[in-house]
Amino acid sequence: MDCIFCKIAKKEIPSDSVFDDDLVFAFKDRAPIAPVHILIIPKEHIKSIADLKEEHEALAGRMIMAAKKLAEQAGIAEGGYKLLFRVGRHGGQEVPHIHLHLIGGAKLAEGIKPIR
Ligand code: AMP
Ligand code: ZN
Repeated sequence: MDCIFCKIAKKEIPSDSVFDDDLVFAFKDRAPIAPVHILIIPKEHIKSIADLKEEHEALAGRMIMAAKKLAEQAGIAEGGYKLLFRVGRHGGQEVPHIHLHLIGGAKLAEGIKPIR
């Protein structure tokens, strides 16, 4: 399957990786919108949060735990950060492989409102 994030997780495409365990992989976003911008992805190809099944509960938890640890590692845990899942068209998801954005290192604007 031609999925860019699957290829990144399998190291077929290079990335600036920051976390790697049996379930989850994380790497720096190539177009960071803040001083810290990391993407946490499942190694299994799952298109979006909308496609999660009950059996993925531990995996979903692992992604959040990885984000928490990476925030500590990056030194932004105390200042705070945002975790963002975009889901589908209205959510603005562009890459159809689940990814959790860890964004921080600066005070962030709210920036979530409907387009009229
Ligand atoms: P989203 O809009 O939530 O689907 O986010 C996709 C994110 O993936 C964007 O922030 C892109 O900058 C990032 N991205 C896409 N391709 C790559 C890549 N090859 N390496 C690192 N980040 C990427
Ligand atoms: Zn994939």
